[in-house]
Amino acid sequence: MYAEVIVDIAHSQVDRIFEYSCPPDLTAGCRVKVPFGGRIIDGFVLSVKEASVYPPEKVKPIAEVFDELPALQSECFSLMERISSRYKVPKAAALRLFLPSEMRLGKVHEVYRKYAKLSHISVPISKTAKKQQEIVVFLQGIDEYDYTALCNEYGRAAVNSLVEKGAITVEKRQIKRNPVLGNYYEEKPKTLTYMQGNAIKSIENSSKTVHLLHGVTGSGKTEIYLQLIANEIKKGKSAIFLVPEISLTPQMLSQLRARFKGEAAILHSGLSAGEKFDEWWRLRSGEAKIAIGARSAIFAPLENLGAIIIDEEHDTSYLSETAPRYSTVEIAKLRAEYNGCKLILGSATPSVESYLAATEGEYNLITLPERINKRPLPEIIIADMRKEVKRGNPSPFSSALREELDATLKCGNQAIIFLNRRGYSQKVICRDCGYVAKCENCDVSLTYHSEEDCLKCHYCGAKYRMLPACPDCGGVHIRYSGTGTQRVVAELTSLFPQARIIRMDNDTVSGKDGHYKILKKFASKEADILVGTQMIAKGHDFPAVTLVGILDADMSLQFSDYRSGERTFQLITQVSGRSGRADDKGKVVLQTYCPENYILRYAVNYDYTGFFNNEIQIRKATLFPPYSLICRVMVTGEDDKKTLEALKSVYFEIEELRKAQPKRFIFLNKMHSPVKKIQGKHRYQVLMRLKDDALLQKIYEIAVSNTTPYVLVYVEENPTNLS
Ligand code: ADP
Ligand code: ZN
Repeated sequence: MYAEVIVDIAHSQVDRIFEYSCPPDLTAGCRVKVPFGGRIIDGFVLSVKEASVYPPEKVKPIAEVFDELPALQSECFSLMERISSRYKVPKAAALRLFLPSEMRLGKVHEVYRKYAKLSHISVPISKTAKKQQEIVVFLQGIDEYDYTALCNEYGRAAVNSLVEKGAITVEKRQIKRNPVLGNYYEEKPKTLTYMQGNAIKSIENSSKTVHLLHGVTGSGKTEIYLQLIANEIKKGKSAIFLVPEISLTPQMLSQLRARFKGEAAILHSGLSAGEKFDEWWRLRSGEAKIAIGARSAIFAPLENLGAIIIDEEHDTSYLSETAPRYSTVEIAKLRAEYNGCKLILGSATPSVESYLAATEGEYNLITLPERINKRPLPEIIIADMRKEVKRGNPSPFSSALREELDATLKCGNQAIIFLNRRGYSQKVICRDCGYVAKCENCDVSLTYHSEEDCLKCHYCGAKYRMLPACPDCGGVHIRYSGTGTQRVVAELTSLFPQARIIRMDNDTVSGKDGHYKILKKFASKEADILVGTQMIAKGHDFPAVTLVGILDADMSLQFSDYRSGERTFQLITQVSGRSGRADDKGKVVLQTYCPENYILRYAVNYDYTGFFNNEIQIRKATLFPPYSLICRVMVTGEDDKKTLEALKSVYFEIEELRKAQPKRFIFLNKMHSPVKKIQGKHRYQVLMRLKDDALLQKIYEIAVSNTTPYVLVYVEENPTNLS
């Protein structure tokens, strides 16, 4: 028999199928080791066949077979083809998406243990074999016993001699490392509200593949997901449930664990390699039927999918920032198509692209306009910070927010203070000469961190000593501009000395369950105020929170990104949604320097459709996505000269495309990237806005053909981060 093998080298030169002779029982999808170019390397068996196209003396045998059950199911190979042609990556790179990386690199393995038990055959044992007699007597009283322990107690020779005679059998079984996340508690399905019931009926009865569940925060979307999943499991199918960043949603996890017990497997970055490996195999073997995780769980090894759910579908974490730079929704659509299953996108603030697809009838749109039990959405009060400055209020808190905080704390309720930035302050500027402290490896300004009294680069993590004086002019009037979480905590402490305050941002969160600990502390009311950045905006359900303060609501409006309006609307809605989720009515204080901004107006009134109609008009008139495609070809390398040469070559080739089809281009230019250097690599870009994706494949090909050992060239579609 012969196997068609893809070698695990993600390089275009070996991106072919190689043939090896193999044992007759080998099946497609197994991982193997094969001789390749004088080495032994890993490979994936694509298929097994009777005859080879090559003469037998040219075909080498497979060196080793890894899996008893093939790691890769047949769907992987179908998706592999589509991913490798869509994103122009080698097949091996596409296949790697389907395996946990630790497992692929052979760093973790199954843990096996052997168990010995008496067989049903009665075998005569000589009277002189005392040990053997003892073993038989011992095993008669019990069902089975650890083989290694048995050998230790009675001697390996005696045990093995019984095994040879057939008196005892030894069975090898895999041991599972079970990740324990939170407590298991009993949780029963809730009685659906009328609206929830209708939503499920609509999804189950619609002939469309993609369903957009647009429900305000607190409208009970989670219960809809859980019951949809339960219904699929009852039908013998499996399900994938994606959340933006799994370590941020411990409540959701414990809820899922409680509801589905062992049927659910959780794949997330906080697990140890061994735990991840075992959870993955539980899915692959069919023991677990529900995969829960962030973006990469879309590749979960499940067969016979009944539903794929993407919660908070607008979230930017669903776009991969490393090659292949896939969109999770796009992969989900491929899997939905392959399995003939449903894809449910849920959000209180759907992306403009998704909502457009829904209004145009491509997706089935389901709207939940009210919170569960008709709880009111929190009232949003706008605080005009220009007036505060005029009044001589230098603190980051408006008088409205201070009053509301005071009232909230007095009632024994909790508050969340949200701000966009991290660190004690933003830039470090010399007031005498205007010098700004920058990172040596990256072309970005450094941020002061008061707890460690140092300057940090948020791109490469480099730390620098605090500056006693300006290195340029020697001046000592160094200023730390801007507000950060640390400064906010310091100000809050002086305003409300009795309040217990905790902070959550990238600096305070570390370790496997850092998020979990902070959130748990807040949930169990061990703190009154939670101060944090973006990571506190997502999906949390804290019943005692009745006040949310948004310190700098318009911060994200100031970015020159066509999506800044959309991002701001999403952020305000999501953060506000944390307030008043239980019986007490919630409030939100939104601080801004431009209260007249229309985005804020729509957000204050929870008017998603108003926002959408306005936004889509602008996108259409100005030809921005979804009415065009923004494409950035990044060219990066350590050698500036070589990188610039590559940039010119890439630009030249794209220029040729434009000459041939000028109408397809709205904009094309080459330039330094906004951040000129990261980790010692120079960064250039060719930026273009295209009418549609007709030339996209050509542009990917240009990127691949200009990549060298010195210069990396890659394509980003509608990038969320243009730094
Ligand atoms: P969303 O995901 O839409 O923001 P959640 O799923 O968090 O909303 O639901 C909001 C709250 O309503 C939660 O506390 C949840 O337990 C509760 N809830 C959801 N569905 C029901 C129901 N059918 N009956 C009673 N309470 C419900
Ligand atoms: Zn740096």
